[in-house]
Amino acid sequence: MNIKEFIKKAPKTELHCHLDGSVRPETVLEIAKMEGVTLPSYDLKKIEELMKIKTSVKDLREYLKKFALPQKVMQSRENIVRITKELLEDVSKENVKYIEIRYAPIYHTEQGLTMEEVIEAVNEGIRVGYQEFGIIANQIITCMRHMSVEENYSVLKVAEKFIGKGVVAIDLAGNEADFPPELHKEIFCEAKGKGLHITVHAGETGEEENIIKSIELLNAERIGHGVCAINDENVVSYLVKEQIPLEMCIKSNLDTKIVNEFRDHPIKYYLNKGVKVTLNIDNGTVSNTTLNQEYFGLIENFNMSKEEVFEIIKNGIEASFATKEQKERLLNELNSLK
Ligand SMILES: [Zn+2]
Repeated sequence: MNIKEFIKKAPKTELHCHLDGSVRPETVLEIAKMEGVTLPSYDLKKIEELMKIKTSVKDLREYLKKFALPQKVMQSRENIVRITKELLEDVSKENVKYIEIRYAPIYHTEQGLTMEEVIEAVNEGIRVGYQEFGIIANQIITCMRHMSVEENYSVLKVAEKFIGKGVVAIDLAGNEADFPPELHKEIFCEAKGKGLHITVHAGETGEEENIIKSIELLNAERIGHGVCAINDENVVSYLVKEQIPLEMCIKSNLDTKIVNEFRDHPIKYYLNKGVKVTLNIDNGTVSNTTLNQEYFGLIENFNMSKEEVFEIIKNGIEASFATKEQKERLLNELNSLK
Protein backbone atom coordinates (compact mmCIF):
# COMPACT_ATOMS: atom_id res chain seq x y z
CA MET A 1 0.00 0.00 0.00
CA ASN A 2 1.50 3.33 -0.99
CA ILE A 3 1.51 6.17 1.50
CA LYS A 4 -1.45 8.05 -0.01
CA GLU A 5 -3.54 4.88 0.04
CA PHE A 6 -2.51 4.36 3.64
CA ILE A 7 -3.65 7.91 4.54
CA LYS A 8 -7.02 7.37 2.86
CA LYS A 9 -7.59 3.98 4.52
CA ALA A 10 -6.31 4.83 8.01
CA PRO A 11 -8.94 5.38 10.72
CA LYS A 12 -8.37 9.04 11.54
CA THR A 13 -9.47 11.40 14.27
CA GLU A 14 -10.43 15.04 13.89
CA LEU A 15 -9.76 16.82 17.18
CA HIS A 16 -9.89 20.47 16.18
CA CYS A 17 -12.88 21.28 14.04
CA HIS A 18 -15.15 24.30 14.41
CA LEU A 19 -18.75 23.58 13.46
CA ASP A 20 -19.47 27.06 12.08
CA GLY A 21 -16.25 27.02 10.03
CA SER A 22 -17.19 23.78 8.34
CA VAL A 23 -20.70 24.44 6.98
CA ARG A 24 -21.40 23.65 3.32
CA PRO A 25 -21.95 26.88 1.33
CA GLU A 26 -24.80 25.11 -0.51
CA THR A 27 -26.53 24.56 2.83
CA VAL A 28 -26.20 28.21 3.87
CA LEU A 29 -27.71 29.28 0.56
CA GLU A 30 -30.52 26.71 0.67
CA ILE A 31 -31.56 27.56 4.23
CA ALA A 32 -31.34 31.31 3.59
CA LYS A 33 -33.62 31.00 0.55
CA MET A 34 -36.09 28.79 2.41
CA GLU A 35 -36.25 30.99 5.51
CA GLY A 36 -35.88 34.40 3.89
CA VAL A 37 -32.55 35.10 5.59
CA THR A 38 -30.83 38.17 4.16
CA LEU A 39 -27.53 37.31 2.46
CA PRO A 40 -25.22 39.67 0.56
CA SER A 41 -25.81 37.48 -2.51
CA TYR A 42 -27.85 34.44 -3.55
CA ASP A 43 -25.29 33.23 -6.03
CA LEU A 44 -23.47 30.08 -4.87
CA LYS A 45 -20.11 31.22 -6.27
CA LYS A 46 -20.37 34.51 -4.41
CA ILE A 47 -21.39 32.75 -1.19
CA GLU A 48 -18.41 30.43 -1.53
CA GLU A 49 -16.15 33.46 -1.91
CA LEU A 50 -17.58 34.95 1.26
CA MET A 51 -17.17 31.72 3.25
CA LYS A 52 -13.79 30.51 2.00
CA ILE A 53 -10.34 32.05 2.09
CA LYS A 54 -9.03 32.34 -1.46
CA THR A 55 -5.47 33.54 -0.98
CA SER A 56 -4.82 34.59 2.61
CA VAL A 57 -6.21 37.20 4.94
CA LYS A 58 -4.53 39.99 6.85
CA ASP A 59 -4.63 38.30 10.24
CA LEU A 60 -6.69 36.08 12.54
CA ARG A 61 -9.22 38.86 13.18
CA GLU A 62 -10.03 39.02 9.47
CA TYR A 63 -10.18 35.21 9.29
CA LEU A 64 -12.78 35.18 12.05
CA LYS A 65 -15.08 37.41 9.94
CA LYS A 66 -15.71 34.40 7.67
CA PHE A 67 -17.95 32.92 10.36
CA ALA A 68 -20.64 35.59 10.15
CA LEU A 69 -22.53 34.02 7.27
CA PRO A 70 -22.88 30.44 8.56
CA GLN A 71 -23.85 31.73 12.00
CA LYS A 72 -26.84 33.48 10.41
CA VAL A 73 -28.40 30.14 9.51
CA MET A 74 -27.37 28.27 12.67
CA GLN A 75 -30.13 29.69 14.85
CA SER A 76 -32.71 26.89 14.86
CA ARG A 77 -32.69 23.33 16.12
CA GLU A 78 -33.52 21.91 12.71
CA ASN A 79 -30.67 23.74 10.97
CA ILE A 80 -28.09 22.91 13.63
CA VAL A 81 -29.06 19.21 13.48
CA ARG A 82 -28.70 19.28 9.69
CA ILE A 83 -25.36 21.12 9.69
CA THR A 84 -23.90 18.80 12.32
CA LYS A 85 -25.03 15.73 10.39
CA GLU A 86 -23.59 17.10 7.14
CA LEU A 87 -20.23 17.74 8.80
CA LEU A 88 -20.18 14.12 9.95
CA GLU A 89 -21.02 12.99 6.44
CA ASP A 90 -18.23 15.12 4.96
CA VAL A 91 -15.50 13.97 7.33
CA SER A 92 -16.58 10.34 7.24
CA LYS A 93 -15.77 10.39 3.50
CA GLU A 94 -12.16 11.05 4.59
CA ASN A 95 -12.36 7.97 6.82
CA VAL A 96 -12.48 10.04 9.98
CA LYS A 97 -13.82 7.59 12.58
CA TYR A 98 -13.93 9.91 15.54
CA ILE A 99 -14.46 13.66 15.70
CA GLU A 100 -14.68 16.30 18.39
CA ILE A 101 -16.90 19.14 17.18
CA ARG A 102 -16.38 22.52 18.81
CA TYR A 103 -18.43 25.70 18.77
CA ALA A 104 -19.55 28.54 21.03
CA PRO A 105 -23.22 27.85 21.86
CA ILE A 106 -23.73 31.50 22.78
CA TYR A 107 -23.47 32.41 19.06
CA HIS A 108 -26.53 30.31 18.26
CA THR A 109 -28.99 31.92 20.65
CA GLU A 110 -29.87 35.00 18.55
CA GLN A 111 -33.34 33.77 17.67
CA GLY A 112 -34.47 32.34 20.95
CA LEU A 113 -32.68 29.00 21.34
CA THR A 114 -31.18 28.48 24.77
CA MET A 115 -27.61 27.21 25.01
CA GLU A 116 -29.02 23.90 26.29
CA GLU A 117 -31.16 23.60 23.16
CA VAL A 118 -28.14 24.33 20.97
CA ILE A 119 -26.12 21.55 22.61
CA GLU A 120 -29.11 19.19 22.35
CA ALA A 121 -29.43 20.00 18.64
CA VAL A 122 -25.76 19.16 18.04
CA ASN A 123 -26.28 15.94 20.01
CA GLU A 124 -29.17 15.05 17.73
CA GLY A 125 -27.03 15.71 14.64
CA ILE A 126 -24.37 13.47 16.17
CA ARG A 127 -26.92 10.72 16.83
CA VAL A 128 -28.20 10.79 13.25
CA GLY A 129 -24.65 11.05 11.88
CA TYR A 130 -23.59 7.98 13.86
CA GLN A 131 -26.59 6.04 12.58
CA GLU A 132 -26.01 6.98 8.96
CA PHE A 133 -22.23 7.13 8.71
CA GLY A 134 -20.96 5.12 11.69
CA ILE A 135 -18.81 7.99 12.93
CA ILE A 136 -18.42 8.68 16.65
CA ALA A 137 -18.54 12.30 17.75
CA ASN A 138 -18.27 14.31 20.94
CA GLN A 139 -18.73 17.98 21.65
CA ILE A 140 -16.22 20.57 22.85
CA ILE A 141 -17.88 23.72 24.15
CA THR A 142 -15.98 26.88 23.32
CA CYS A 143 -15.67 29.93 25.55
CA MET A 144 -14.64 33.14 23.79
CA ARG A 145 -11.63 35.13 25.00
CA HIS A 146 -13.22 38.54 24.43
CA MET A 147 -16.32 37.68 26.41
CA SER A 148 -16.66 38.55 30.08
CA VAL A 149 -15.92 36.07 32.82
CA GLU A 150 -19.64 36.10 33.69
CA GLU A 151 -20.66 35.19 30.14
CA ASN A 152 -18.13 32.37 29.94
CA TYR A 153 -19.15 31.16 33.38
CA SER A 154 -22.71 30.80 32.15
CA VAL A 155 -21.40 28.76 29.20
CA LEU A 156 -19.52 26.48 31.60
CA LYS A 157 -22.63 25.97 33.74
CA VAL A 158 -24.55 24.76 30.69
CA ALA A 159 -21.68 22.57 29.47
CA GLU A 160 -21.53 20.89 32.89
CA LYS A 161 -25.11 19.66 32.47
CA PHE A 162 -23.99 17.61 29.46
CA ILE A 163 -21.00 15.85 31.01
CA GLY A 164 -21.49 12.20 30.08
CA LYS A 165 -24.19 13.30 27.61
CA GLY A 166 -22.18 14.37 24.59
CA VAL A 167 -19.91 17.10 25.96
CA VAL A 168 -16.36 16.03 26.78
CA ALA A 169 -14.42 19.28 27.06
CA ILE A 170 -14.31 23.06 27.06
CA ASP A 171 -12.10 25.27 24.94
CA LEU A 172 -10.99 28.90 24.82
CA ALA A 173 -10.88 30.58 21.41
CA GLY A 174 -10.85 33.95 19.68
CA ASN A 175 -8.58 36.97 19.78
CA GLU A 176 -5.48 35.67 21.56
CA ALA A 177 -3.38 38.81 21.05
CA ASP A 178 -5.58 41.04 23.22
CA PHE A 179 -6.99 38.57 25.77
CA PRO A 180 -4.40 36.43 27.63
CA PRO A 181 -5.33 33.05 29.17
CA GLU A 182 -5.22 34.17 32.82
CA LEU A 183 -8.42 36.21 32.39
CA HIS A 184 -10.40 32.97 32.46
CA LYS A 185 -8.40 31.04 35.05
CA GLU A 186 -11.23 30.44 37.54
CA ILE A 187 -13.60 29.09 34.92
CA PHE A 188 -11.11 26.54 33.66
CA CYS A 189 -10.14 25.46 37.17
CA GLU A 190 -13.80 24.85 37.96
CA ALA A 191 -14.28 22.97 34.67
CA LYS A 192 -11.44 20.64 35.57
CA GLY A 193 -12.93 20.05 39.00
CA LYS A 194 -16.21 19.06 37.38
CA GLY A 195 -14.49 16.47 35.22
CA LEU A 196 -14.44 18.25 31.86
CA HIS A 197 -11.39 17.87 29.65
CA ILE A 198 -9.68 21.10 28.64
CA THR A 199 -8.15 22.27 25.40
CA VAL A 200 -7.10 25.86 24.72
CA HIS A 201 -6.19 27.78 21.56
CA ALA A 202 -2.71 29.10 22.38
CA GLY A 203 0.46 30.14 20.62
CA GLU A 204 -1.53 30.65 17.45
CA THR A 205 -0.89 34.35 16.99
CA GLY A 206 2.50 35.12 18.41
CA GLU A 207 2.61 34.62 22.16
CA GLU A 208 4.46 31.39 22.96
CA GLU A 209 4.15 32.11 26.68
CA ASN A 210 0.38 31.63 26.34
CA ILE A 211 1.07 27.94 25.75
CA ILE A 212 2.67 27.47 29.15
CA LYS A 213 0.07 29.71 30.82
CA SER A 214 -2.76 27.69 29.27
CA ILE A 215 -1.30 24.45 30.60
CA GLU A 216 -0.33 25.71 34.05
CA LEU A 217 -3.13 28.21 34.76
CA LEU A 218 -6.02 26.83 32.71
CA ASN A 219 -5.18 23.10 33.07
CA ALA A 220 -5.09 22.57 29.30
CA GLU A 221 -4.50 18.91 28.43
CA ARG A 222 -4.12 19.77 24.75
CA ILE A 223 -3.17 22.95 22.93
CA GLY A 224 -4.89 24.24 19.82
CA HIS A 225 -2.17 25.14 17.31
CA GLY A 226 0.89 25.91 19.47
CA VAL A 227 2.69 27.08 16.33
CA CYS A 228 4.64 29.75 18.23
CA ALA A 229 6.29 27.27 20.58
CA ILE A 230 9.06 27.11 18.00
CA ASN A 231 10.15 30.62 19.08
CA ASP A 232 11.38 29.26 22.40
CA GLU A 233 13.22 25.97 22.78
CA ASN A 234 12.16 25.83 26.44
CA VAL A 235 8.50 25.75 25.42
CA VAL A 236 9.16 22.90 22.99
CA SER A 237 11.03 20.94 25.69
CA TYR A 238 8.16 21.58 28.10
CA LEU A 239 5.64 20.15 25.62
CA VAL A 240 7.82 17.07 25.15
CA LYS A 241 8.38 16.58 28.87
CA GLU A 242 4.71 16.99 29.75
CA GLN A 243 3.55 15.11 26.63
CA ILE A 244 0.96 17.78 25.83
CA PRO A 245 -0.55 17.09 22.40
CA LEU A 246 -0.76 19.91 19.86
CA GLU A 247 -3.83 20.14 17.62
CA MET A 248 -2.14 21.39 14.47
CA CYS A 249 -4.06 22.80 11.49
CA ILE A 250 -1.64 23.74 8.72
CA LYS A 251 -3.90 25.25 6.03
CA SER A 252 -5.55 27.44 8.66
CA ASN A 253 -2.13 28.74 9.78
CA LEU A 254 -1.26 29.55 6.17
CA ASP A 255 -4.57 31.37 5.71
CA THR A 256 -3.98 33.59 8.72
CA LYS A 257 -0.33 34.12 7.71
CA ILE A 258 1.01 32.74 10.96
CA VAL A 259 3.16 30.60 8.70
CA ASN A 260 4.14 31.84 5.23
CA GLU A 261 4.82 28.56 3.44
CA PHE A 262 3.73 25.00 4.12
CA ARG A 263 7.42 24.08 4.41
CA ASP A 264 7.89 26.67 7.17
CA HIS A 265 5.28 25.00 9.38
CA PRO A 266 6.86 23.58 12.56
CA ILE A 267 4.90 20.28 12.56
CA LYS A 268 7.81 18.20 11.24
CA TYR A 269 10.29 19.88 13.57
CA TYR A 270 8.00 19.20 16.54
CA LEU A 271 7.46 15.58 15.51
CA ASN A 272 11.21 14.99 15.29
CA LYS A 273 11.70 16.62 18.70
CA GLY A 274 9.16 14.26 20.27
CA VAL A 275 6.18 16.62 20.60
CA LYS A 276 2.88 14.76 20.36
CA VAL A 277 1.53 16.47 17.23
CA THR A 278 -1.89 15.75 15.74
CA LEU A 279 -3.30 16.97 12.43
CA ASN A 280 -6.73 18.56 11.98
CA ILE A 281 -8.71 20.86 9.68
CA ASP A 282 -9.79 23.68 12.04
CA ASN A 283 -12.39 25.01 9.55
CA GLY A 284 -12.95 22.82 6.53
CA THR A 285 -14.99 25.41 4.64
CA VAL A 286 -13.19 28.62 5.63
CA SER A 287 -9.78 27.07 4.91
CA ASN A 288 -11.11 25.11 1.95
CA THR A 289 -9.41 21.92 3.08
CA THR A 290 -10.03 18.31 4.06
CA LEU A 291 -8.14 16.10 6.46
CA ASN A 292 -6.69 13.90 3.72
CA GLN A 293 -5.45 17.00 1.90
CA GLU A 294 -3.70 18.13 5.07
CA TYR A 295 -2.00 14.72 5.33
CA PHE A 296 -1.06 14.70 1.65
CA GLY A 297 0.59 18.09 2.26
CA LEU A 298 2.93 16.42 4.76
CA ILE A 299 4.23 14.05 2.10
CA GLU A 300 4.44 16.67 -0.64
CA ASN A 301 6.16 19.34 1.44
CA PHE A 302 8.14 17.42 4.06
CA ASN A 303 8.57 14.12 2.29
CA MET A 304 7.28 12.45 5.44
CA SER A 305 7.60 8.70 5.65
CA LYS A 306 4.70 6.33 6.25
CA GLU A 307 6.07 5.79 9.77
CA GLU A 308 5.93 9.52 10.51
CA VAL A 309 2.38 9.84 9.18
CA PHE A 310 1.44 6.72 11.18
CA GLU A 311 2.80 8.40 14.31
CA ILE A 312 0.66 11.53 13.76
CA ILE A 313 -2.51 9.50 13.19
CA LYS A 314 -1.73 7.41 16.28
CA ASN A 315 -1.15 10.60 18.30
CA GLY A 316 -4.60 11.80 17.23
CA ILE A 317 -6.24 8.64 18.55
CA GLU A 318 -4.30 8.71 21.82
CA ALA A 319 -4.84 12.45 22.40
CA SER A 320 -8.58 12.26 21.81
CA PHE A 321 -11.13 12.53 24.59
CA ALA A 322 -12.74 9.27 23.43
CA THR A 323 -13.24 6.37 25.84
CA LYS A 324 -10.45 3.85 26.43
CA GLU A 325 -12.40 1.22 24.49
CA GLN A 326 -12.98 3.53 21.53
CA LYS A 327 -9.29 4.39 21.41
CA GLU A 328 -8.26 0.74 21.60
CA ARG A 329 -10.57 -0.15 18.73
CA LEU A 330 -9.15 2.63 16.54
CA LEU A 331 -5.55 1.75 17.44
CA ASN A 332 -6.17 -1.90 16.55
CA GLU A 333 -7.63 -0.87 13.22
CA LEU A 334 -4.68 1.43 12.56
CA ASN A 335 -2.11 -1.22 13.56
CA SER A 336 -3.71 -3.70 11.15
CA LEU A 337 -2.65 -1.40 8.29
CA LYS A 338 1.00 -1.32 9.34
ZN1 LIG B 1 -9.54 26.69 16.15
